Amino acid sequence: MTAQRLSGKPVAEQIRARTTQLVENLKRDGFSAKIAVILATDNEATAWYVRSIERAASQQGVDPQVLRMPEATQEELVARILELNEDETVHGIILQTPLPQGVDPAALVQLINPAKDIDGANPLSLGRLTVGQPAFAPATARSVIEILEHYDIPLAGQHVAVVGRSAVVGKPLTQLLLQRDATVSICHSRTTNLAQFTKTAAVTVMAVGRANLLGGQDVSDSSVVIDVGTNVDEQGQLVGDVHAASVQPKVRALSPVPGGVGTVTTALLILHTVQAASKVCESIMWRGEPMTIGR
Ligand code: NAP
Repeated sequence: MTAQRLSGKPVAEQIRARTTQLVENLKRDGFSAKIAVILATDNEATAWYVRSIERAASQQGVDPQVLRMPEATQEELVARILELNEDETVHGIILQTPLPQGVDPAALVQLINPAKDIDGANPLSLGRLTVGQPAFAPATARSVIEILEHYDIPLAGQHVAVVGRSAVVGKPLTQLLLQRDATVSICHSRTTNLAQFTKTAAVTVMAVGRANLLGGQDVSDSSVVIDVGTNVDEQGQLVGDVHAASVQPKVRALSPVPGGVGTVTTALLILHTVQAASKVCESIMWRGEPMTIGR
């Protein structure tokens, strides 16, 4: 038996189609969306990623604005975030990591207006998700859900093991799963006997950052496995947390690295931006005010 491949590509295509529809609606109302990315490093890999966001935004009719601020100070970054919060033409804000040395990321992300926090970086967004209020989840966590739903993997009443409990992936993903009535085990570095969770779960999500952490011996033939991890192996290749060679022949379905979650995240950032813009547009239309912002 070989596992069904839960590729991210058709999922991203479907998300882009949803975005296109929303962009059309905005256009009809004389409105457009803008995403702002603060890039405070000259790290080449990060710059490449930000260019891919710029490209994806432009292709979808969303205006990208990249604020290049290498070696920015805490004060300069604070000022820039506050400006973007106030700027009515900006609907989505990303504070791209890594940040310059000496800068405190936690103090910065909590300044991002939750209505524009399209990558769920502000802890308020996670808090809102936790109590069931509308909020943007981090794109990576949401990508896992989009993949599971695209391939009709049932979640209600199912046991899902989430391995990793970060504020970026594990915790928000847990909230999204609870919203869908899954029963969630949250595993981490202090979990004893990890395999007892991953073997009995209907769905296992690996979000750790350790190559080969999940092997064929840790899964069952009914498991659905979503790999979120990104690691570089000795050959310089991108690999996930799953030992694909032993897991793939054993499980029911596997979302691989590369080709899975990572393929979906950028499309979601653009969708979130357009959703944020649509909210602003709706509230203006509802008040019947002339549209002077966000064009
Ligand atoms: P992180 O903040 O380092 O968190 C890693 C989590 O894994 C922690 O909760 C840690 O437990 C847990 N962990 C560490 N060793 C473990 C072990 N042996 N067994 C079980 N759990 C263990 O990482 P992150 O930001 O959540 O990212 C996780 C992975 O996803 C990374 O590989 C990252 O590169 C990848 N990622 C991918 C994308 C994408 O678009 N594809 C986006 C974001 C992240 P403790 O809490 O106990 O320390």
